[in-house]
Amino acid sequence: MNIIIFGPPGAGKGTQSKYIAEKYNLFQLSTGDFLRNEIKKNTSVGQKISSIMGTGSFVSDEIVSNLIEKIIKEKKYDNRIIFDGYPRSLSQAKNLDYLLKKYKQKIGVVLKLSVSLETVKKRISERRNLEKRPDDNENVVVKRYETYEKSTEPLIDYYKKLNLLKVIQGESSIDQINKEISEIMNNLEG
Ligand code: AMP
Repeated sequence: MNIIIFGPPGAGKGTQSKYIAEKYNLFQLSTGDFLRNEIKKNTSVGQKISSIMGTGSFVSDEIVSNLIEKIIKEKKYDNRIIFDGYPRSLSQAKNLDYLLKKYKQKIGVVLKLSVSLETVKKRISERRNLEKRPDDNENVVVKRYETYEKSTEPLIDYYKKLNLLKVIQGESSIDQINKEISEIMNNLEG
């Protein structure tokens, strides 16, 4: 099944997506990673993305949608995608509905990792020492958290109304979150 995972930067979204992908044989579509990869390749799209990402703002819907569609239409990923970082706005959610319908797929569950800004700041400052990401300085992190909160609120409502939303306490340990997610997934499958 296709899954959507939500969480602000530093919520453990990437870590948990990797775990779910391995355990349930799904493909992790992290839009952030895909976009960073475009930057690395230094394509003209990559250059455009680079200046936007550096400020903590969102890349255009069109750029991200094209990228997402390329994956959704691949037979090998049919109904086995974890959307990590997409959708990030109501218009992206509606676009995702449209794309999934076009390729005769649907969303099985939407997972939301809930964490406070204080925890996010702490985790990002730890991560800064391990990985070098241009968007990990504190001002940008606060901006990304606020942008995330503001833009995902209507999305959370949207999926709640569709009865797809499951909220998980992202303040817990990685193992504890793993466990909670497994329970949700096993209940869906059973
Ligand atoms: P992430 O690694 O998911 O935190 O994403 C890092 C950055 O990539 C974001 O701050 C945005 O600039 C960009 N990005 C990732 N996903 C999206 C999306 N769905 N729509 C627009 N921009 C995105």
